This record gives sequence, C-alpha cells and structure tokens, in this order.
Amino acid sequence: MSQAQVQDKPRRAIESGVPDNQQYLHPLLKKNYGNWRYHDRPRPGVLHHVAHGGDEVWSVRAGTQRQMDVHTVRKLCDIADQYADGYVRFTIRSNIEFMLAKQERVAPLIETLERQGFPVGGTGNSVSMIAHTQGWLHCDIPGTDASGVVKALMDELYQEFKREEMPNRVHLSTSCCEINCGGQADIAIIIQHTKPPKINHDLVANVCERPAVVARCPVAAIRPALVNGKPSLEVDEKKCICCGACYPPCPPMQINDPVYSKFAVWVGGKNSNARAKPTFMKMVASGLPNNPPRWPEVSEIVKKILYTYKEDARAWERLSDWVDRIGWPRFFEKTGLPFTKYLIDDWRGARASLNASTHIRF
Ligand code: SF4
Ligand code: SF4
Repeated sequence: MSQAQVQDKPRRAIESGVPDNQQYLHPLLKKNYGNWRYHDRPRPGVLHHVAHGGDEVWSVRAGTQRQMDVHTVRKLCDIADQYADGYVRFTIRSNIEFMLAKQERVAPLIETLERQGFPVGGTGNSVSMIAHTQGWLHCDIPGTDASGVVKALMDELYQEFKREEMPNRVHLSTSCCEINCGGQADIAIIIQHTKPPKINHDLVANVCERPAVVARCPVAAIRPALVNGKPSLEVDEKKCICCGACYPPCPPMQINDPVYSKFAVWVGGKNSNARAKPTFMKMVASGLPNNPPRWPEVSEIVKKILYTYKEDARAWERLSDWVDRIGWPRFFEKTGLPFTKYLIDDWRGARASLNASTHIRF
C-alpha cells in the first residue's frame, strides 16, 4: 500500500469499554433473550428460568472470595467445564453463577462446589456475599484490609448466605478508606480516620505537587508553607475532617495509623428502585478498633444489627424501610448501640461550606 493510500484510508475509531456480552452468553440464554415465561427458585442458590418455547436453564450461584489466586480460578473453570459447558458469570457481589441446561446436573454441581469450599446460596432474601473494595492487595491508600474483614465476617454469616431467612435481601459492603469506592449497602463497614494527617516535611517537595494537594481538600484546610526553608504544606487541624483525600496525591501526608484509624458502621443504604427509592446510609457506630486478622469488635456490631433486623422487620422490609418505620430512637434501643450526637448525621450545610469549586484557594 502506498503512502498516499495509507493517508486516504479513513481512520477507524478504536472502540473501548466493556465487550458485547452476547458473545459470552450460554446458548440457551442467547436463544431466549428477553423471551422468558417465568422464573423461580427451586432452592436457595438456584435460579430456574423457563422460556416461552419450553427451554429451561438452571443457574447455580456460589460464593467466592473475589480476590482469587490462579489455582482457585482454575478450579472454578474445571467445575464449569465439567458441569456447565464452560459457561459462568459473576454477579455484582462477586458470586459465581454456573448455567446448566440439564436439571440432573444441578445436584452433582452443588455437591462438588460445597465439597471444594464454595457455599451455594446468596439468592433471594439471604445475606449475599459482601461487596468489598481492594484493600491491601491492590490499592495504594487503604487504612485497613477489605477482603480480610469480609472473610472474617462471612465465616460468621455462612449459614445466612446459604438460607433465605432474612425479611428481604441484605447487601453488606466494606470500604478500606473514607473516600470509599464501596458504594451504598444495607450495612457498610468503613474505615474512619480520627486524626489529621502527619506531614513528613522532608519529602513533600520531592514527592507532591502542592497545588494538586491543596485542591484535593474538601474543606480547604491545606495551605502551602515553608518549613525549615523548604517548600511544604500545612494543615489547619480545626478545619480538617480527617477524610484522607490528601494522602493519595501526597503520601508524605500520612493519615493511616494503627491506633487512630478506626472502623465505623453505616446502615440503610440501597441502590435499587424496588418498592422504594434508593437511599443513603447513615453512620450508627464509630471508633471501632481496626483489629486484624478477625476484627471481632466489628463483627459483633454487624451481627447485632443484622439479627435485630431479622427478628423485628416485617416481611419484605429492607433495612432502610425497617428503620423508617420504627424510627432512629427505636433502632438504637432495639440494637443496644449507644447513640451520640455524631451519629446518623443528616446535616445539609455542605453546599455552603465544602470546597466544591475547582479554584485553588490558599
Ligand atoms: S475504599 Fe479507598 S483504599 Fe479501599 S480500594 Fe477504594 S479507594 Fe482504595
Ligand atoms: S484532605 Fe481531608 S484529611 Fe487532608 S487535610 Fe483536607 S480534610 Fe484533612
């Protein structure tokens, strides 16, 4: 091809983003896409879809640890090849689903999964797998682990994953910093820094772009400063809300602390529009110790909230519906959690005082 021909050829757009999912669908799901007569759940952990044309598909759902080593992935792939013609998908809460075209394969698949340590469940009104953020393994700013907290908690809620005995579905999440890529959940466990960052002034000039750090602070608490003759930063500690947002662009602003980085528990968030509109979570417990490897204090509070909800909520109430009906004072009475003025904050002054502008302020 000559140079002129190359130049005449129109440049094709480079497509990016998620690939078309149709190419990965089980053949029966593809054939009957949007054409289902009904679906039901023959048992917890199994979804059964029946198409208008009579085709049937069974999806068997199992819990995974989300961050998996290559041996575990291979093990799951072998199980998929053996029972599900190689077709699997992951749910938003990191459960794996195997799609089967033959009912007689369902029971042996469940037996194999359970024997290999993957509990079958997570459907309907169960406690589904906890959605968690990256933790120590992948992110550069966490104040704690996320998958470790999940492991410790799901060990204790194992039976609630396998049964559908909650008033409605329960989504839990953990987030390993306050910037929180974890999103909304019925019960969320979130790291909580309780002291402003400590600045290593010797490193700031070499490591940080000071305007970028100043602009990051949501309450305009950071100012450039000269310390020992070197350019550095200073924090107005009266303003600082200990959010940790300055740490990612400037690691010398160390905020993670083995003692002062704590855990908080939030409740009542949901993303779905089913029955009621989406809701934001509210903090109901704070200052819990960041205590690896089992985080017992956090587990205890989460279980207290979860089992009070299980006992007290009416059928089909999500956790936020239950709190709306009984009110916050009764929530604290029933769960036995101490109430302080810092909890369930519904303060609306943020627009006037938070740093929502793109301008850099000194
Ligand atoms: S919650 Fe924070 S620390 Fe954890 S993975 Fe997300 S951004 Fe990183
Ligand atoms: S970004 Fe957050 S932690 Fe850093 S100084 Fe501002 S309020 Fe404090």
